[in-house]
Amino acid sequence: MKLTILGCYAPYAPKEGACSGYLVQSDNLNIMLDCGHGSFAQLQKHINFRDLDALVVTHFHPDHYADIHAIRRAIAGALRIGTRKDPLVVYLPSIPAYPYNEINEWQDVFSIIPLEEAQLKDNNLGNLILNFFPTVHSLPTFGVIIRKNQTKFTYTSDTAWDNSIVQAASGSKLILAEASLLNADIAYTKKGHLTAKQAGLLGQKAQASRLILTHFWPEYNLNQLRIEAEVGFEGKVELAEMGKSYLIQ
Ligand SMILES: [Zn+2]
Repeated sequence: MKLTILGCYAPYAPKEGACSGYLVQSDNLNIMLDCGHGSFAQLQKHINFRDLDALVVTHFHPDHYADIHAIRRAIAGALRIGTRKDPLVVYLPSIPAYPYNEINEWQDVFSIIPLEEAQLKDNNLGNLILNFFPTVHSLPTFGVIIRKNQTKFTYTSDTAWDNSIVQAASGSKLILAEASLLNADIAYTKKGHLTAKQAGLLGQKAQASRLILTHFWPEYNLNQLRIEAEVGFEGKVELAEMGKSYLIQ
């Protein structure tokens, strides 16, 4: 599997940046995880968007789903002129009712699968298995696990610390973990976020081989986040970088 960072900022992106968006590829499969502001344009630096197989929206905060409007229009146009044959498979939460109900009306473009249903089973996509788990955030949110054979990748989406997150991510080759906060701002974890130090502890307790931090507030010094994460994680902590790809193996 290959992970490419399309956007790693929140809740807004600095120039040249984009909000949460990640491309996971395996053989001929292209899966987009989240589609925050600007991420769809970034996607097109890496693939032809008409070749996208599935989109996962982990929750309905704009920095994770704002570009779904652009994706809807792009896929609709491709279907209309025949450069794409099938609607796009979209996994998303069915709560809150808005915007779910609006998006669920776009059935000509999207094949919608509610994450509340998808979390109960293995979801096969080519040679990959997708699983989803609830996180601890200010509205219904799901983390994502993608497996290829024995290789496991976990994306935390947005979450506060909880042992269930450690269990879900356990044994991952690579964890892409939100690290929204410096320790000095730990009070904000009650809004449903991790400090970088907690992200490091998550990587350690889940015995991950690699840990990549993401979901960066542009005002922060990212090296400070990395240093704080390294307190808890024995391995090397990496910072998500726009456009960079990481092999998961
Ligand atoms: Zn959020």
